[in-house]
Amino acid sequence: MFTAFLIKYAEIGIKGKNRHLFEDALMHQMKYALKKCEGKFLIHKSQGRIYVDCQGEFDYDETVDCLKNVFGISGICPVIYVEDEGFEKLCDTVVRYIADVYPDRNRTFKVHARRARKDYPKESMEINADLGEAILNAYPEMSVDVHEPDILLCVEIREKIYLYSEIIPGPGGMPVGTGGKAMLLLSGGIDSPVAGYMIAKRGVKIDAVYFHAPPYTSERAKQKVVDLARIVSRYAGPIWLHVINFTDIQLYIHEKCPHEELTIIMRRYMMRIAEHIAGETGCLGLITGESIGQVASQTLNSLIATNEVCELPVYRPLIGFDKQEIVEAAQKIGTFETSILPYEDCCTIFVAKHPVTKPNVNIIRRHEHNLDDGIEELVKTALETKELIVVE
Ligand code: ATP
Ligand code: MG
Repeated sequence: MFTAFLIKYAEIGIKGKNRHLFEDALMHQMKYALKKCEGKFLIHKSQGRIYVDCQGEFDYDETVDCLKNVFGISGICPVIYVEDEGFEKLCDTVVRYIADVYPDRNRTFKVHARRARKDYPKESMEINADLGEAILNAYPEMSVDVHEPDILLCVEIREKIYLYSEIIPGPGGMPVGTGGKAMLLLSGGIDSPVAGYMIAKRGVKIDAVYFHAPPYTSERAKQKVVDLARIVSRYAGPIWLHVINFTDIQLYIHEKCPHEELTIIMRRYMMRIAEHIAGETGCLGLITGESIGQVASQTLNSLIATNEVCELPVYRPLIGFDKQEIVEAAQKIGTFETSILPYEDCCTIFVAKHPVTKPNVNIIRRHEHNLDDGIEELVKTALETKELIVVE
């Protein structure tokens, strides 16, 4: 029965002179999301509002699900368009609308009319009163509550008449593309996909880097990361995934440095390489899935050691989250089931039995010195042989 959706958006940053940039980015992201749905959709802006017109056959649930993934949308209102064939007809349509949408009519309501077309023969207040009366006549079990109605029936008088009353919550946030771009260190774990989702939600476009260590990590482990990137891309849009072959670097660190410092030194090289790629691709920050104290390499001391090798800010949106909270977020965004597939990740193979939990940065630096020029060469080769996978 619905023929369109009215898109609601709200965030302080959108007011003022940047508003059209926000709206254009939002429409762009909606277009991307709806490409995955059956049907033909026309997204348009009219008098400061964004509408999706569904042209011909479409799957209502699928369309709503796609729109629910678009950051920047705070609400999705299913709308029906009615031809203006006189007020009597409008009353009949409204009464039928209520019956169709609200099988249980033991509720309060309010009519909220808006005339975008001023030549309509009735004024807004009159429309409210007369439609309200028609509804009360048809359904005596309903009553009017102008302060906190269960149903707010909106009636917009335009070329056609638009009716809507439901607001399906959207994800909120800002449209991707309005906040620059950042580089996500994406592993096959539970945390980093959630971290990417959270930063994308603030309007930041995401590139990603995965450190692959064949033959210690399998093709399946890499495929899992690609699959995770694809799930995140439902929300974040296309993701450029850079795959770095990290094996020789890991083996070399393993050979030259104390084993209890292996993870930290490896993490430092990951950050350095990620920052290098970020510089080449216009990324303005790095994103990781770290959370304080989750593992030895994520204590405050360890974070000092990983942090000090890069100049770009490192965004760690999960820093104060418990594992259970991260798991719940992963389930909500749909990455959890893929994340827990049992393929080894490169860090688990090289972990020491007793990794340092309070690394001393000076000592780490000294040990990294043992890597001398050899590591430079290996990093250079890793960057030269990097693989790019565009995930969408
Ligand atoms: P995750 O669940 O995201 O893998 P984790 O709890 O396993 O996190 P670590 O393995 O210590 O934690 O990694 C911390 C962060 O470093 C990850 O969240 C991710 O951002 C990054 N990272 C770790 N391993 C890799 C990898 N192989 N490729 C890319 N990034 C990685
Ligand atoms: Mg991990």
